Amino acid sequence: MTGALVTLAYLVAASLFILGLKRLSSPRTARAGNRMAASGMLIGVVAALLSEQILNPVELIGGLAVGGLIGVVLARRTALTDMPELVAAFNGFGGAASALVAGAEVLREAALPEADLDPIVALTVGLSVLIGGVTLTGSFLAVAKLRGSNANGFPGLRLVSVAVGLATLGALGLLVASASPEAGLPWLGALVACALVLGVLLVLPIGGADMPVVVALLNSYSGMAAAATGFVLGNYALVISGALVGASGLILTRIMCEAMNRSLANVLLGGFGAEAGAAASGGGDEDRTVRSTTTDDAALMMAYAGRVVVVPGYGLAVAQAQHEVRELADLLQKEGVEVAYAIHPVAGRMPGHMNVLLAEASVPYDQLIEMDEINPEMPQVDVVLVVGANDVVNPGARDDETSPIYGMPVINADEAQQVIVMKRSMSTGYAGIQNPLFFNDNTQMLFGDAKVSLKGIVSDLKDLQAA
Ligand code: NDP
Repeated sequence: MTGALVTLAYLVAASLFILGLKRLSSPRTARAGNRMAASGMLIGVVAALLSEQILNPVELIGGLAVGGLIGVVLARRTALTDMPELVAAFNGFGGAASALVAGAEVLREAALPEADLDPIVALTVGLSVLIGGVTLTGSFLAVAKLRGSNANGFPGLRLVSVAVGLATLGALGLLVASASPEAGLPWLGALVACALVLGVLLVLPIGGADMPVVVALLNSYSGMAAAATGFVLGNYALVISGALVGASGLILTRIMCEAMNRSLANVLLGGFGAEAGAAASGGGDEDRTVRSTTTDDAALMMAYAGRVVVVPGYGLAVAQAQHEVRELADLLQKEGVEVAYAIHPVAGRMPGHMNVLLAEASVPYDQLIEMDEINPEMPQVDVVLVVGANDVVNPGARDDETSPIYGMPVINADEAQQVIVMKRSMSTGYAGIQNPLFFNDNTQMLFGDAKVSLKGIVSDLKDLQAA
């Protein structure tokens, strides 16, 4: 491949990444955006591997086929609720790839006779290896925590982290100061070891439930590692794509923290669980009783409503009840009831979780209404149907200054005329706190798995319509 063709291919790849990212901002165009970005990646990979004669076309096609197959099998086998784990694993591999490619550059130079180690190159390689190594072990620890591992550290962890942090800086400094690539190799090795340990030490104290934020942050790190590797190789497509991932990961982390009304430091220092536990036991709701209802009463209430708003939450994903919720909405709409879905930015366990779930059931996008848009209309809503949501409809976040989630923006379900809450028990949600909404006079609890309850309501509604 000629130099001009390679540059053109990189330009096309970078443009496809940017356009793809732009399209990901709306559910309507997200699929096309994803395809665009993937095509950009294919063009970038093919151009890089052919331009440097790293692989011949047969090896290239073979590698793409094997990698593509692994990707397809992994993505198809992973349930939607396990997506954060898949993303975390991909981040880990991304970090490792960047670190390996950057490290290989020093090894390649060390093999050349009398090569000098340019301090800028050494610094860039060092940063790539450091960030890539932290991302690798941090991401796989995040996967373990998302899978329920509750390893959370040991006494003196902070002290050990500081010591390893200092050793990392020392190894990086000595790598940069090395006169030749060969002299730098031991320091590169030390840096790899320190980075791998640091990744574990940084993620260890963070609670399992905070892992989605950590995954977004590590996603950003993997982008930064790729960008640093792009500088080492002089590969602008890698610099651009890495910078895009780095920046978008940081923005996502910020959005998630803001939607939870928490600082990044609070997440990283793992402060949520302890406070939440205290509030959960001292919420004062234990003496109050809740009213429960049945599927036929719920069906009747909604059949006679003018406007029903569904608030989906994490429980909808657990129950995989998106198709049933859509069927219920269709039935109600057939009877002239207006139905909309209120979407909270951090409902579920990953950004856009509810949008993806409802899109799977082909819920029309124009029925999904953002929290800020639907809240002023809540007093005019006849029935709010909360499906497996808890924290995102907790009025304590608005009214109770002592609540650990005070200040977190929530969907004002309590302001609707009637509220039906579907969940299996009185268990708390992610934040570990009780929800005063459940005890309100206009709230009725429909206990049970959301899928089973929705099927019940749909069947009762059909009976009602047939009668
Ligand atoms: P919550 O975790 O607050 O509540 C989910 C509720 O679903 C639980 O109370 C549970 O009650 C119920 N549930 C679970 N399984 C089922 C089932 N099969 N059928 C019916 N109900 C079920 O979820 P929300 O979506 O309201 O809030 C999300 C929380 O996650 C927020 O606190 C947010 O800050 C946090 N978070 C979100 C991230 C994101 O990116 N979206 C990232 C990190 C954190 P029960 O067990 O009684 O059934």
